[in-house]
Amino acid sequence: MPITARGAIARTPGAPVSIEEFTIDDPGPNEVLVRILASGVCHTDFGVKDGHYGSEGFPFLLGHEGAGVVEAVGPGVQRPQVGDHVILAWRAPCGSCRFCLAGKPNFCSASLNAEKRMRILDGEVLNPVLGIGTFCTHTLVHAGQAIPYPAELPPAQMALIGCGVMTGVGAALYAADVQPGTSVAVFGCGGVGDSVIQGARLAGATTIIAVDVDPRKLEWAKEFGATHLVNARDGDPVEQIKALTGGNGVNYSFEAVGSAKTWEQALFCRDLAGTCVIIGVPGQSEPLQLPMQRFFDLGGIVRVSWYGDCLPTRDFPMLAEWYRQGQLNLDTVVTRTITLEETEDAFAAMNRGETLRSVIMFEA
Ligand SMILES: [Zn+2]
Ligand SMILES: [Zn+2]
Repeated sequence: MPITARGAIARTPGAPVSIEEFTIDDPGPNEVLVRILASGVCHTDFGVKDGHYGSEGFPFLLGHEGAGVVEAVGPGVQRPQVGDHVILAWRAPCGSCRFCLAGKPNFCSASLNAEKRMRILDGEVLNPVLGIGTFCTHTLVHAGQAIPYPAELPPAQMALIGCGVMTGVGAALYAADVQPGTSVAVFGCGGVGDSVIQGARLAGATTIIAVDVDPRKLEWAKEFGATHLVNARDGDPVEQIKALTGGNGVNYSFEAVGSAKTWEQALFCRDLAGTCVIIGVPGQSEPLQLPMQRFFDLGGIVRVSWYGDCLPTRDFPMLAEWYRQGQLNLDTVVTRTITLEETEDAFAAMNRGETLRSVIMFEA
């Protein structure tokens, strides 16, 4: 029997979200129905709603950073089971694409999703953001996208593991492979950048430089483990970073903004042979121009990282456990908890830089 759910839906690019009812068919083979407990409001949802990534795909069911409880499973599902608390993942390796077959499921090119079984009341099929959709009372995902976590841990904090926190921590641990005793600079200290800082701290970096233009964001960054703060409004951040690292630059830089200017700064604040990891999602049309010789002469590695190169089945339980042990601070990332009706306010607060994450809470 189809159920009726309620969610934040983006019908046309740039328009405010509408909170409305939609229907969800029974889960099909290898699919699970999840009752959402908490969902983080990520920048990507705003970008989708705003038409930043194009006008295709509307209407969208927003949200892709959620935790909930499995309410029903389709045929063939062995894991998770009804009643399990789960964090939703937007990458679920298929096991049979060229990357999965080569033993690199974290780069899976055919990530598993549920069939599109969610419809607004006029019958139009909903597109869940990143194949999940979490700004809603219920959603339907592939079983491989629902990763169990211990039910006693708080859903608001667990939800954040599903996107921003994993993206940042994984960028430090896996994409950059930060080594103990090294130096790191992080451009952009929102929820993702602060998670890079935590990942670098957990990996044993001894100099962690937070770069932002907002003093409030820099103060937060300190709570997550930044050892030095650089306000880019106070002068060229590359020069400021060099001054903090004996004139050399850092071993690892991370760009979590998505603009050409910060890409360039992240590239050139490195020491010789340093690693630069690009995380920030760029806009559609901004060109990048680089002095090629300077780039060449620095050597090193430049790489793009999506989702922290993670493997959710391996990494979500690890991050949940680090949270339980007090090693990973997720409480400070949850800046506000709100209701579904306050989704637009959360976007506005995010755009004003007031929050690391607003988290939409649903009735337990
Ligand atoms: Zn695959
Ligand atoms: Zn996200």
